[in-house]
Amino acid sequence: MLLLIPGPVQTRPEIRAAMAVDIAPWDNDFKAEYAAIREAVRELAGGVAGQHVCLPLQGAGHFITEAAVRTFVPQGHKLLVVMNGTYAERMARLAREAGREVVVLPVPDTRSVTPEEITQALAADPAIGHVGIVYSETGSGIINDIPAVGAAVRAAGRRMIVDAVSAFGALPFSLKDQPEVDAVVFTSNKCLEGLPGIAFAISPIERVTACAGQANSWSFDLADVYAVSLRAGPGSFRFTPPVQALHAFGKALEVYKAEGGRETRLARYRENARLLHEGAQALGLKPYLDWQHQGPIIVTIHQPGDPAFKLQDFVDALKRRGVLISNFYNTPVPTMRIGCIGDVHADDIRFALRAMSEALDELGIQRRNAA
Ligand SMILES: *Cc1c(COP(=O)(O)O)cnc(C)c1O
Repeated sequence: MLLLIPGPVQTRPEIRAAMAVDIAPWDNDFKAEYAAIREAVRELAGGVAGQHVCLPLQGAGHFITEAAVRTFVPQGHKLLVVMNGTYAERMARLAREAGREVVVLPVPDTRSVTPEEITQALAADPAIGHVGIVYSETGSGIINDIPAVGAAVRAAGRRMIVDAVSAFGALPFSLKDQPEVDAVVFTSNKCLEGLPGIAFAISPIERVTACAGQANSWSFDLADVYAVSLRAGPGSFRFTPPVQALHAFGKALEVYKAEGGRETRLARYRENARLLHEGAQALGLKPYLDWQHQGPIIVTIHQPGDPAFKLQDFVDALKRRGVLISNFYNTPVPTMRIGCIGDVHADDIRFALRAMSEALDELGIQRRNAA
């Protein structure tokens, strides 16, 4: 099966095979392996040894986003969430439920926010201390310009939390060049092409120590993750870690390096996105985003206006042909989402486009443009 979903992504066989072992988390061999993974990931984020730290947390992307919000935004303080998609809505929800005050900056999910919009929103409300933003909005496929937004946040003297879950490993990011960032967060199972189970925040050490004790959650306190790793050593974990996922993630990092790292991976995803964006139009379908706003992570396409079109039927018809896409969508109007990330190459996308063409014919979908 060819998995064309934006996480958990299709992985290489040697990465999956690395899961098939039993491991004791406190074993000295594993501790060294885990400590090395933390260093390697800090490096990938442009973090500097002694100034920045990699703070892993068991679980999904939402968990690490919540942990970053709880750790760095004091309770009752204001977080401005740049609202251009579903993952931003999720950040706002988890922040509100953690008792943080959310101010929303509405932006359509068809384009990036501009630095001017950020500057204006921050000038309008001096009580906002942090900006929360999604780098690659996996709902629609747009990319926010994190260096440009960060410069606006920095100029306004505020702090920033970046949800880079579907961006990190492909799109550029450098913590040492963005001192306004308290945390950039991501997981093992998107552009780094590992298995799901572990999430990471990379943060300035100075900020982590300054924010000790304000998470009002033990499980989600990144300052406590840091404190424990100082006390017990960089290879130690607070609670049972997903040891197999971590071991496989070490393999995924080797594969990443061997492929040529971030730039090569980004080029591969971009080509996948280009083929999908063009190929969909060749089938008579209408992409949700104009090419100039289209990111390299996920291509969303309007569902055909033909009344015979049912998303689940289309997903099932594709699955019979060996291709799996999401059976839901996250845009205000009906779309279908096709992932460009994972161990997916140009020939896979060509194969998927042929499968889409056959599936549309099989289902008798004649009117293919948006409703
Ligand atoms: C995948 C994703 C997440 C996290 O999703 P989980 O299901 O919690 O791992 C968060 N933000 C973005 C932008 C994502 O693409």
